[in-house]
Amino acid sequence: MKFSPNDICPCGSFKKYKKCCKPFHDKITFPKAALELMKSRFSAFAVLNTDYIIFTTHENNSDYTSNLKSWNQEIMNFSKNTKFEKLEILDFIDGEVESFVTFRATLFQDNTDISFIEKSRFLKVEEKWLYVDEQFIDEGKK
Ligand SMILES: [Zn+2]
Repeated sequence: MKFSPNDICPCGSFKKYKKCCKPFHDKITFPKAALELMKSRFSAFAVLNTDYIIFTTHENNSDYTSNLKSWNQEIMNFSKNTKFEKLEILDFIDGEVESFVTFRATLFQDNTDISFIEKSRFLKVEEKWLYVDEQFIDEGKK
């Protein structure tokens, strides 16, 4: 599926992609807050920008590897087989160098609902927010 700059951005902003996450994906600007980074990563998965996912992942993340080719391929396989239906932000704890975003991602693979709630952790390294790790949250006891 080809994604157009005039399409509505997948991150849930209701803005056009070109006026929302595209400048981040093109590395023209950088997200000033971890919340923006989180949203731009969600939309990067949706538009199959594997490079941006890798670019914004902290080296302490368990997926982090110097084998960029296989990492790229893994992200691409996941993204291509997943429908990124909806992103809802539930909580945002903004810090100087460490921030947390809790969100519900509504995703489908084939017709299977693989949605989840996650609390992501981000660290600021040299003025750039990076995704570090996450904690999955049980929907029943939030
Ligand atoms: Zn966006």
